[in-house]
Parts: sequence; C-alpha cells; structure tokens
Amino acid sequence: MTDYQRICLVHYHEIGLKGHNRASFEMRLLKNLGALTQDFPVVTIHRIAGRLLVFLREGTDWETAKQVADLMRNVPGVARVSCGFKCARDLDVMSQVAIAALAEAGEFATFKVAARRNHTDFATGSMDMNQIVGAALCEAYPEKQVKMKNPDVVVGVEVVQNASYVYARSLRGVGGLPVGSSGKVVSLLSSGIDSPVATWKLARRGAVCIGVHFSGRPQTSDASEYLVDDIARVLEKTGCIARVYTVPFGDYQREIALTVPPALRVIMYRRLMFKVAEAIARQEGAGALVTGESLGQVASQTLDNIRCTDAAVDLPVFRPLIGTDKLEIIAEAERLGSFEISSQDAPDCCTLFMPRAPETHAKLPVVLEAEAALPLEQWIPELVAAAEIRDYACPAYKPKKRQR
Ligand code: ATP
Ligand code: MG
Repeated sequence: MTDYQRICLVHYHEIGLKGHNRASFEMRLLKNLGALTQDFPVVTIHRIAGRLLVFLREGTDWETAKQVADLMRNVPGVARVSCGFKCARDLDVMSQVAIAALAEAGEFATFKVAARRNHTDFATGSMDMNQIVGAALCEAYPEKQVKMKNPDVVVGVEVVQNASYVYARSLRGVGGLPVGSSGKVVSLLSSGIDSPVATWKLARRGAVCIGVHFSGRPQTSDASEYLVDDIARVLEKTGCIARVYTVPFGDYQREIALTVPPALRVIMYRRLMFKVAEAIARQEGAGALVTGESLGQVASQTLDNIRCTDAAVDLPVFRPLIGTDKLEIIAEAERLGSFEISSQDAPDCCTLFMPRAPETHAKLPVVLEAEAALPLEQWIPELVAAAEIRDYACPAYKPKKRQR
C-alpha cells in the first residue's frame, strides 16, 4: 500500500508537562528529528496537538519507513513512534488504509480500534468510527480477535481538519527530554563499558554531551582513541554528542609517576583529568562533568577517593551509575549499542604506570601536599591546547565563539 502518504506520529510524555516551556521543547525535538532524518525521505515534520507528525515522501516503502521509525524511537524525548498513513476523511478509505496498516503491524493475535476526531465537523463520532473500521478489519482478518483490554495492537484512527491518520505499528521510544533542552555537559569518556552509558544517561535527560578522552599517547598506542570514536558514532545516531576532545596524557602520567608516592598516582591522574575536563567545560560553556564511576567498583571509586577527586574542581560532577551494578551497566551498554566496542581491549591511560597498591582511602591534605610538587598551572593549559577535537553531528550544539 503505497498509494497513501506514509506518516509517523511521534509521541512524547514529559515535554507535554513542561508548562510554558512546552513550545520550545517541542521545537527542539522537531529540529533534532529533522536533522537526524535528513538522509531519509522525510518531507516535513509538523507539530499537531501534543504530537509531532512526520510526513514521508509519497511512494516511500515499508522498509524505509521502518528504518525512520527505528531511528526516531532512539532519540531522547521520543516516548512512542506510530507508523501509518495519511488519507481522506472517508470511512471507506480509512477502513482500507486500516487494513493495510494492520498488515504491517508485525505478529499479533488481538487488536482493537481507537478512533478519535479532533474536529466535530466530521459527522461520525468516535464510537461509530470504532465500529465501522473494526468491522472492516474483522472481515479482512477473520483469524484475529478483537480485545478491548490490552490488545496486542491498537489501530489508531484520527480525524483532523483536512485529513485523517491511520496507524497500527507502534514502538516504544527511549523517553527522556530532547537533547539541547538541559544545557551542556563534559563527559569523561574512556573506551570502557561504563562511561558511554553514563554519557547516554545525561543525554537522555536533554544534555548536549562533549566527550573528553585521555589517551596514553605517546606512551601507548592510539588504539583507545579509535574505540572512543566508534563509541561517539553510536551516540551520534541519537544526536547527543557534539565533539570529543582527545588529550595525549601519557607523558604527564609519566611525570606524575616519577614525582608522587606510588599509592597516590591514580588520584593524581584523576584530579588532573578532572581539572583539564573542567577547563574544557568552561571553554565550551558546559555546566557539569560526568563520569561512569560506580561506588566501590575499583580502587579509585571509594567514597574517600571520590571526595578527593571532586575537590579538584568547582563544577558539579555527575556520576549517574554510582549505585548501579556492573551487570546492569552491561545490559544498558548492550541496549545502547556500545558494549561490543567497549569489550575490545585497548591500552589507554588507565593501564599506564599503575601502582601495585593504589590508595583506597586518600586524605585530601595529603593529596594536596603531594600535588604541590606538580606544575599544574602550566600543565592544564598545555593539555587543553594539545587536545585534538573531533566533531560529530549534534543538531542542538552551538559552538561558543572560537576561543582557540
Ligand atoms: P569505564 O568502563 O568507563 O572505562 P572503569 O570501570 O574502567 O570505567 P575507571 O577506569 O576507574 O573505571 O574510570 C572511572 C571513570 O573515569 C570512567 O567511567 C570515565 O568517566 C573516567 N575515565 C577513566 N579513564 C578515562 C580516560 N582514559 N579518558 C577519559 N575518562 C576516563
Ligand atoms: Mg576505564
């Protein structure tokens, strides 16, 4: 059935609740979806009564429509995507289109029709529409059952001013808020399992994410940088990551390893990472740092050590995985699509110059005293200047005026 124009209806939950901000949230989501689907035959996207209506080019096939829907359901802010058709306000036509839409709904045993009219200038009421379209479907699909409570498929029929929309396939979206509606964050992105998931959590709450990766280069290869690029490309599909700064960190770790007591090395590496990330955040106008730490997971993730690293910076540090178990994080990484990439081994700065027995209960005055031996005032701008920037497609990102 390609005689009718294909459409997707994009539903959202939370943005509906945001009072006077609602219009700007809707516009943000609309712009994000428009930019992310630009390689697909999407003609235009409209805002209609609490939803977005995505028009696909006439003649678009089902496979392509499915790809568009699958892309959109993973975009933050999207609660549900329904695929169907736009057609005339004619009950015979609507019934035929409903039969076609139901044919594309996938496996199901039970269904019901949920009709509504947004305009009372259409003579038939919603109950009657349910009956008429429902009868046509029962005739076309005699082996399927009508079920009012929790059917497998709900066939949506909506009559608006000049047209009607009929859809059957409906997919749950990732929810959250549109990227760009909650400001910017700088995320410390390793090639491990945790930090991509942590980044995604903030993205889903509407933050534009800027990654900062500390590479062991030149003391190690650049393998971790390629993995981080692959991870960024996964995140890019949802429009949430604007750029990744790669900081060659190996020589500085070497200096730290030569200067401070071995047990304090890891804390020093991490404090320096935070300070560099904070300098980048200021440059980018970002309001917080994000890490993939989870309490007690490794030596640096004890309460004492977290306190010592937080004290290195003024910005808030968000750790969305702090109370999450590894298996839960892995499940989320699989859903996100980053797990396989993160499972590959690459030496990064984490594996470099590790002490045999890292401090697990660092005391801030002791850390500060040891750190005084390091020329941080010189190092931080040096590291920020040495960072290599790679840009990704992020519709909500506006670079600050060039500072460098
Ligand atoms: P991940 O799986 O994300 O690598 P992890 O369990 O290996 O985390 P750590 O190595 O202690 O834990 O790192 C904790 C957090 O510090 C990471 O989640 C990440 O946010 C940040 N981090 C660690 N290494 C790097 C790095 N090389 N570049 C940027 N950030 C890093
Ligand atoms: Mg790691």
